[in-house]
Amino acid sequence: MSDTNPQPQVGKVTPFEPGISMVLAPNASPMTYWGTNSWLVGENRLAIIDPGPMDAAHLNALIDAIDGRPVDHILVTHAHVDHSPLARKLAQTVDAPILAFGSATAGQKPHMQALAASGLAGGGEGIDHDFTPDIILNDNDVIQVDGHPMQALHTPGHMSNHLCFAYETSEQTKALFSGDHVMGWASSLVSPPDGDLTAFMASCETLAARNDRIYYPGHGHPIANPAARVQWLINHRKKREAQIIDTLKTGPQTAESLTREIYTDVNPALLPAAERNVLAHLIDLTQRGHAASQSDLSPTATFQLQ
Ligand SMILES: [Zn+2]
Repeated sequence: MSDTNPQPQVGKVTPFEPGISMVLAPNASPMTYWGTNSWLVGENRLAIIDPGPMDAAHLNALIDAIDGRPVDHILVTHAHVDHSPLARKLAQTVDAPILAFGSATAGQKPHMQALAASGLAGGGEGIDHDFTPDIILNDNDVIQVDGHPMQALHTPGHMSNHLCFAYETSEQTKALFSGDHVMGWASSLVSPPDGDLTAFMASCETLAARNDRIYYPGHGHPIANPAARVQWLINHRKKREAQIIDTLKTGPQTAESLTREIYTDVNPALLPAAERNVLAHLIDLTQRGHAASQSDLSPTATFQLQ
């Protein structure tokens, strides 16, 4: 991570390489770091990736940055309120279609649908329930952006409808727009039922098997060493899983009691988010047959090793 680089200015175009620039949205927060990165791809004809939150000033900043050039596609990595709500307004303004994997729950697994139906709501970033793309992109679909291929990669985990976009400006070198799957500042939030750790780890393996030159994330600085960053994410999760398994060896526990035992040095305000994280691991361990819940899968269920 190149955290020594200056922070981009909100509302201004920050160029990174020919055909790739960014406009930072005015939504800095503990969940979004310095705000959402809205990407402009192409030189003569454009695609916009993640228009960002519903914000009139950000819409104007994007229109200034587009500077009258034709926009062929509006791409959305996932339907969280810091990424997708401005898409429709921008689509109407520049007359371009919205392309994404699907609505907020597209791609959600049955056990997560059951958890959602039981009343568990997503934690952390808000869901854009109204989001509907004009064109559905499936895994590996390719579109043309300013004469170069842009490939959609279904990378569920942070959210079930999450896509990364690989942009190929020459045969050797691909830039990957990594959304919130791999970010420039922190590990990704995986909060059930919208977040799915089993899917997240599989998506990490998908990215680890690629050979991208650089990642342009939804938040934070570009990632110049993608392979190392993805490996760090995988290791970080495996370490947490090992801690949870070790603690469960002493007897059955709930997500809450495990969180109190494991996160001893955490600001109490962050404990609910930590508990979601532990629940994500418990559900993942259950899916993989390493643990079982003593009642129906729920945030208050007691889990044991098996
Ligand atoms: Zn985000």
